[in-house]
Amino acid sequence: MGLYFLGGESEITMTPNETVRVRRDANNGIAERARETEFTARIPFMCECRDQSCRGFARLQIDAYDVIATQPGWSIRGDAHGFRASVIENDTERTVIELAA
Ligand SMILES: [Zn+2]
Repeated sequence: MGLYFLGGESEITMTPNETVRVRRDANNGIAERARETEFTARIPFMCECRDQSCRGFARLQIDAYDVIATQPGWSIRGDAHGFRASVIENDTERTVIELAA
């Protein structure tokens, strides 16, 4: 996996869709590493919201992430949105799952 730049201080501005895609790519890399190391605790995944300046993390176990990541059109939201983690259906913005802190 490459280096990902996640916005904020950067001169690079991404569209909301690019922001979501880059973070999902990064999260897939994190998940891959976790699988390799058989890491079973909760992993801080990057918030996949459309706000490039968001620095939230969604803490999920790898099994939960695998389920979410294989659903087309779902993305995760992190602690900056008031939950340990939540899952959003992208098209409708409907909340699929909320995990309290
Ligand atoms: Zn966010």
